[in-house]
Amino acid sequence: MKHVKLFEFNSYNDSAINNVIVPFLKANIRDGKKKVLLKPNILLAAAPDRAVTTHPMFLEKIIHSLKKSGIDDLFLADSPGAHYVEYERVLRITGIAEICIKNNVNILKVEKYKPKIFGDMYISSIIDDMDTLINIPKLKTHSLMGLTLGVKNLFGLVPGTHKVQMHKNYPNNNKLALKLYDFSKSIEHKTINILDGIIGMDGEGPSRGRPINTSLIALSDNATAMDIAVTKMLNLPVTFCKTNSAAMDSGFDEDNIRVEMNNFTFKRKIKKPLSYGVNLLPSFIRQTFANMIYIKPEIDQQKCTQCKHCYRICPAKAISNNNNILKIDKNICFECFCCYEICEYSAIKLNRSLIHRVFVK
Ligand code: SF4
Ligand code: SF4
Repeated sequence: MKHVKLFEFNSYNDSAINNVIVPFLKANIRDGKKKVLLKPNILLAAAPDRAVTTHPMFLEKIIHSLKKSGIDDLFLADSPGAHYVEYERVLRITGIAEICIKNNVNILKVEKYKPKIFGDMYISSIIDDMDTLINIPKLKTHSLMGLTLGVKNLFGLVPGTHKVQMHKNYPNNNKLALKLYDFSKSIEHKTINILDGIIGMDGEGPSRGRPINTSLIALSDNATAMDIAVTKMLNLPVTFCKTNSAAMDSGFDEDNIRVEMNNFTFKRKIKKPLSYGVNLLPSFIRQTFANMIYIKPEIDQQKCTQCKHCYRICPAKAISNNNNILKIDKNICFECFCCYEICEYSAIKLNRSLIHRVFVK
């Protein structure tokens, strides 16, 4: 039986947050497992109130809870998409650098560690150097995966451009989800999960959606169990989150989870990403209109700063750069939405085909 605890918190200022995290840490970090890596979601350089990244105040609560539990050999790392080359800037703008410096947490770079091979995935060997991984995802909708929670957050342990290769190898989101699930299982013995869902994101997540009060902290020693419990709590079908589907297709039993709700109920309606909507259509519609139901990114030249992050990360090489004019070839694009996700200037918009607009609401 897997265990998940859900707690309602409406503010990052609430000192009672420590009261739920400390016992969880004491129960799950055993003696001799005290070299700890904190792995928040640091997708890109966004201020904390945009809800793109794990909130620095939440991170600080976890750090204080660890210290109260007698654990202070602390490290932090993530690989922020195309922005890993400007890691310091991302850490500064997200407010994470300040919290780490203030609390003596050593910031490490995922890319500095030799990648090791897991199947056809490259994973930073940083994980081998640690006793315990504290996975600290942000609750967000996700254009490709439906939701990004515990399992998806581990993608940040794939160094830099190897993430692009993964999208290229697995343009089908179900297969990518399966790889991530397999990886999460391989490090389950040293991972504990603490979800930042106090302010989450819905709509066009993981970077362009709206911050929403989801008022939730979730704790579990199993990322998949936590993800399934949270998906249900949001009143979404379990399979809305692709990594959940991958887990269940691999034999994970969703009934083998004991959820302690602590009087928590969620009454709001989560807005789904339009780019994900095609996954929710009945299969006969998807098959009948296979070539007519699409959503393609396009660069707004007025907003584009020519930073070229999208150009560098596009796994399909669908983005051309002619004298600093960046354009997307929609015939090559396979709709992974990586460019849309990482553009810090909202310079990429999504164009929906007529049939997409008819069926996806
Ligand atoms: S579209 Fe966005 S990510 Fe691409 S070059 Fe322009 S500003 Fe940079
Ligand atoms: S253009 Fe954007 S959505 Fe299309 S394949 Fe490239 S990164 Fe993915």
